[in-house]
Amino acid sequence: MWTQDWRSQFEAAAERAFDVLIVGGGIAGAGVALQAARAGLRVVLIEQNDFASGTSSWSSKLVHGGLRYLASGDWRLTRESVQERQRLMHDLPGLVTPLDFMLPVYAHDKPGRWALQAALGAYDFMARKRYSHYMKPAEFGAHMPYLNRDGLKGGFVYRDALTDDVRLTLRVLIEARSHGVLAANYVRAEQLLFDGDTVNGARVADRETGRCFDIRAAVVVNATGPWSDRLRAQVEGAAQLRPLRGSHFVFPFHVLPVGRAITLFHPDDRRPLFAIPWQGATVFGTTDLDHEQPMDEVPRMSAAESDYLIAAARHYFPARNMQAADALSCFAGVRPIVRGEPGASASQESRESSIERERGLITVTGGKLTTFRVTANDVLEQVGQALGRRFVRNDKAPIIHAVGADAQTRGGVRHGPAFAGMSARADDARALGTTDYRFRELRFALSHEAVAHLDDLLLRRTRAGLLLDQGGLAQLSALEPLVCDTLGWDAARWSDEVERYRAHWHQVHAPV
Ligand SMILES: Cc1cc2nc3c(=O)[nH]c(=O)nc-3n(C[C@H](O)[C@H](O)[C@H](O)COP(=O)(O)OP(=O)(O)OC[C@H]3O[C@@H](n4cnc5c(N)ncnc54)[C@H](O)[C@@H]3O)c2cc1C
Repeated sequence: MWTQDWRSQFEAAAERAFDVLIVGGGIAGAGVALQAARAGLRVVLIEQNDFASGTSSWSSKLVHGGLRYLASGDWRLTRESVQERQRLMHDLPGLVTPLDFMLPVYAHDKPGRWALQAALGAYDFMARKRYSHYMKPAEFGAHMPYLNRDGLKGGFVYRDALTDDVRLTLRVLIEARSHGVLAANYVRAEQLLFDGDTVNGARVADRETGRCFDIRAAVVVNATGPWSDRLRAQVEGAAQLRPLRGSHFVFPFHVLPVGRAITLFHPDDRRPLFAIPWQGATVFGTTDLDHEQPMDEVPRMSAAESDYLIAAARHYFPARNMQAADALSCFAGVRPIVRGEPGASASQESRESSIERERGLITVTGGKLTTFRVTANDVLEQVGQALGRRFVRNDKAPIIHAVGADAQTRGGVRHGPAFAGMSARADDARALGTTDYRFRELRFALSHEAVAHLDDLLLRRTRAGLLLDQGGLAQLSALEPLVCDTLGWDAARWSDEVERYRAHWHQVHAPV
């Protein structure tokens, strides 16, 4: 929880000497912050834009074992991911929720029924639960009424889990703050600082106040995801990343009504795709290709990716006659993948995390949302080595400590224990447009969750900008009094923020 005047105090608070400075406020940085603070370290985290505004907002929203990693023989990653999935479902009910997936089998499909059955058996075995089973075509089709039945031989149902990637990141960060972590958004690490040959901090710029200052720490963790080669260049680290973009559409549920998620293989190249029921809409993706757009721009879905996804949607749901223009929005993210063998295709690159230690800078890249806790513990081991300390690895501790009955409610799970303490107001139960975001949640986010801009509220504290027609521009007048009252904005600031949001939405999220 951030008090409303926290930014004016951040520079003074950051003058202390820290054990760890974490650069990057995505899931990797948030996870390391939490585990390091729990180990008793003094931790500060900075994020150049909004928290979770990088890859951690643009994933497929799955907390999953990753069936396809089994196909590529990556058993260790799959087992670890399945176990983390089970743990996150247990520790974060309401934020990481079980989701059934349908997996159709068509005549001449490869892999065929028996190979899939073996893979799903192994998947269940790793979870020590039996979830998957086979259905004949009539039963399978009854669950997916719009699915192409040509050559359908039947299919499987299996289980994974769903989340809101931003809220997961924020929830971990809120927990980290309750353990004393100092965390600021819109503060960028410009230049690493050195003590002799060893990194011992960073010169940072607060992009909201325009002020530059130094933060000193015994260890600096580079958790900047797809940007991580930039900080590594300052310690002469050779570039190692292969940024790979993945894009998704968000369709209104009535355009692509899937009660359960479905896994499909693209008819052209057999890459796996998902249609996922998410927050009242259907998310459809993803692509996997080299990201050649400038890294200083927010990634966008290209026309070719749009065509690729729509071709698959039309193949599998012919009666829906889907088009890009039917979508509410689209979004794209960049996977921070460590480059593997020369000539490897995008999909062949490993999703394992990688940790490098160079002149006191510990860089963590790759990995998945799902495995953030394991990755954070691995980073903490490296931090311990750098500090000459040994931390007991506690793989059994819950991710979020129970905080009473309200932890189980939607607000408590998503926003943390302070949510229950917020006094009620008359219009709190009102929803924002057709979403199920209530004004109480919006008010809480504005007053406790470091919202600096309108897009923070509409694209990250809530995902309303992805779920409402035209990014929810028609709902903004209903929001204006709440936002302006809570953040102290005048009419001029409000109209600047609306313009900033409108331009950003059209550039990045308008369906291509
Ligand atoms: C299309 C797609 C689908 C995916 N689907 C899934 C999925 O379903 N399930 C799953 O488990 N994983 C999934 N992943 C993987 C997962 O999303 C990523 O592994 C994870 O989000 C990476 O988190 P991160 O913290 O390393 O990077 P990021 O979230 O990108 O965080 C890095 C942060 O560092 C900040 N930063 C950069 N430079 C600086 C600086 N100089 N100073 C301060 N801050 C800086 C950036 O602004 C950014 O916010 C998917 C990835 C993609 C791209």
